[in-house]
Amino acid sequence: AKKSAQESMETPMMKQYQSIKDQYPDAFLFYRIGDFYELFNDDAVKGAQLLELTLTARNHNSADPIPMCGVPHHAVQNYIDILVDHGYKVAICEQMEDPALAKGMVKRQVIQLITPGTRMETGVNGAKENNYLAGFTKQDDHFGFAYADVSTGELRTANLSTFDTVMNEVMSVEAKEVVVDDTVPAELIDQFKPLGILVSHQTEITTGAELSFVTQDLDDGVETAAVSMLLSYMEGTQKRSLSHLQRAIAYEPSYYLKMDHYAKRNLELATNIRTGKKSGTLLWLLDETKTAMGGRLLKQWLDRPLLSLDEIKARQDKVDELLQHYFERSNLQDELVKVYDLERLAGRVAFGSVNGRDLIQLKTSLQQVPKIKYVLEELDQNVFGDMLTGLDPVDDVAELIDRAINDDSPISVTDGGVIKDGYDDQLDEYRDAMKNGKQWIAELEAKERQATGISTLKIGYNRVFGYYIEVTKANLSKLPDDRYERKQTLTNAERFSTPELKEKETLILEAQEKSTALEYQLFTKVREVVKAAIGRLQRLAKALASLDVLQSFAVVSENYRFVRPELNNGHDLEIEDGRHPVVEKVLGKQEYVPNDVRMADDTTVLLITGPNMSGKSTYMRQLALTVVMAQMGCFVPAKSASMPVFDQIFTRIGAADDLISGNSTFMVEMQEANDALMHATANSLILFDEIGRGTATYDGMALAQAIIEYVHDHVHAKTLFSTHYHELTALDESLHALKNIHVGAVEENGQLVFLHQIQPGPADKSYGIHVAKLAGMPDGLLSRASTILQELEANAGETPTPVNVDEPLSEPTPKPASKRKQTATSKQLALFETPTMDPKVADIIKDLK
Ligand code: ADP
Repeated sequence: AKKSAQESMETPMMKQYQSIKDQYPDAFLFYRIGDFYELFNDDAVKGAQLLELTLTARNHNSADPIPMCGVPHHAVQNYIDILVDHGYKVAICEQMEDPALAKGMVKRQVIQLITPGTRMETGVNGAKENNYLAGFTKQDDHFGFAYADVSTGELRTANLSTFDTVMNEVMSVEAKEVVVDDTVPAELIDQFKPLGILVSHQTEITTGAELSFVTQDLDDGVETAAVSMLLSYMEGTQKRSLSHLQRAIAYEPSYYLKMDHYAKRNLELATNIRTGKKSGTLLWLLDETKTAMGGRLLKQWLDRPLLSLDEIKARQDKVDELLQHYFERSNLQDELVKVYDLERLAGRVAFGSVNGRDLIQLKTSLQQVPKIKYVLEELDQNVFGDMLTGLDPVDDVAELIDRAINDDSPISVTDGGVIKDGYDDQLDEYRDAMKNGKQWIAELEAKERQATGISTLKIGYNRVFGYYIEVTKANLSKLPDDRYERKQTLTNAERFSTPELKEKETLILEAQEKSTALEYQLFTKVREVVKAAIGRLQRLAKALASLDVLQSFAVVSENYRFVRPELNNGHDLEIEDGRHPVVEKVLGKQEYVPNDVRMADDTTVLLITGPNMSGKSTYMRQLALTVVMAQMGCFVPAKSASMPVFDQIFTRIGAADDLISGNSTFMVEMQEANDALMHATANSLILFDEIGRGTATYDGMALAQAIIEYVHDHVHAKTLFSTHYHELTALDESLHALKNIHVGAVEENGQLVFLHQIQPGPADKSYGIHVAKLAGMPDGLLSRASTILQELEANAGETPTPVNVDEPLSEPTPKPASKRKQTATSKQLALFETPTMDPKVADIIKDLK
């Protein structure tokens, strides 16, 4: 009779499985059976699909078999990675005793829960990226926020006053998982789901020794609460020592140049909008780092440019010094290349997962430090003196590893071959015994051959029978039978032992066993010494990382002809021949047209006009990138630059940013504009690209004008405002701190030629029809557009002057002609929005909207 599924689940093993699975309902449970990890039931069905495994069944004979699939234990990491990449959790359940020795059911236990925010194995691709786990808790109106990288032990926390800032920090550190407790209401939690961020709950606080260590520098209750929650979650998932966690550092987002997530995305600081990759971004351009730690720090600096003039200057001085010393710099690079990922090595030491090879990597890295110090000694001590004295080579650890650990250690730490000869007397004795014994046995072979006259006699070893003397059957008669004791019979030969061989064998095997045991013991002692030095290793890692970023700045500054910007705490901005570094790199330096940005204390708003595709938005982005680079301490793409330190950058560039949230593009545009108007200060930078174009012409124009006036009169932030509303250019008559500039274009033989050159004053034409022509629109349509334009211009008479500031804003009654203009536009679009459209043309048409 077939068993029912119910009965199949009643076997002792499935009962054990189910009781463990019940504790991890939201994770894939990898249940170890022998050499495989097995998945059952829903895990198996879903897992088989995601991992492309064959779905089988646990109990073929049952009426309703239990779905099952499995992965071999040696390949498990790949499968874990795939699931975690997809945003799932994986619980690793091991056999806690040898099945051969177990009485009854083998004991099993989950030894680690791997989640998107807590994975240690990052692979080669992830070396230059942090993997952050974020968490927050709510107390009254405040949020305690914290984030950590389990692999490097970095831990930071902040007291934030709004959920928007929490969200922004989560996005900013690119956390893939957020931990919350019961204080966080469901409607806030729901906001993470559309973003593909996993939310985990941690309600209990574990109070281990590590908690008091990591929170010792915090005096804010809500920050401590957030860190405690995050730490409890990490301990609960990792289930092992987290002694590499660093003391939590409290930070204040306002201590850095503030940009919201959308601004960072729009400016393509670290992520290419089209591809989602690093290529084509500012990070990509700036990254000439030689170490993984440097790569990660560069990203952190990019995320948080500085506000303090002194701190910026200190970085600039170092870049300058490195820039001027080519040889020292290239020596430095040669040494840095040999430095492994000290932060993550330290993490593995704490975890106890470090092996002999890791320690050799650690030694090699530490051995570079004296050479790096030697290079720094050659540089100006006013600039590098502090860094030089602070650089601790941790040579006691390096020496210990050098004395103790074999350079060609095996991966395993339990099978011997890890500890060097001469490190430990006892170990040397065991090894001598083994070596002598083996030598003695080799000699025995010759002796026995001579004594018996059997030239084919040989001595061998196998694990079951130990050492033996082998004689072929044909030669058996030549053997004197007094000393030889039969051990094993083969088809063609007999194997024997002798009392003296037995005695040596015991000695050798004993020595071998003792030696591997002792080696493992010695290895763990070395590991403990290294563990005690984790704090020093982490400080060294930080110092080397910043040195690496600074040399990277020097390299790019030289390669791309950047200059040191002169920074001030006032409001004077003057950039001569500025460039957009990424566009320039892509186009080539011959193609790129440099442009000045001149905004002295008396200029708040630059109103930019010019045809589509002429370079308006490139010009605006160029300024923002220059500001970011300057405040990171890097040099900037210009012939000369003098600029204020900005406190915040606001952008409203491009569309289609926020399709996920379900808001209309125009709504998002207004929200972002409002955010800038409410929060910008006189020290901020605002980039507004064609604000108002998402609504009817007069509506949009009225809003645009009111926004410009508001910024001009109340906010005083340096503002770049690009527009197609020509009428707005007359504002320079009423707004004293507004200047018109335009991007030049000329008509040659009816063709539009972009000069990409910023010129003073307003543009004289919109050239929209020319761009449409460039996009390949039919001649008939284009001449029709020209006719409509002429009609419109004739009807409108003079260009309408902007509404006077003192008058209340009222929307003028739309003229019939303006309606017709819009109809024409939508017709154009309908005609040309075909699925096969060249993306470039699509962009142009989108701009025409
Ligand atoms: P707009 O915002 O005016 O529509 P963009 O700033 O998007 O125009 O520029 C369109 C294209 O023109 C860019 O993709 C770039 O290839 C080119 N471009 C822009 N600025 C420059 C420049 N200064 N030098 C050379 N090419 C430029």
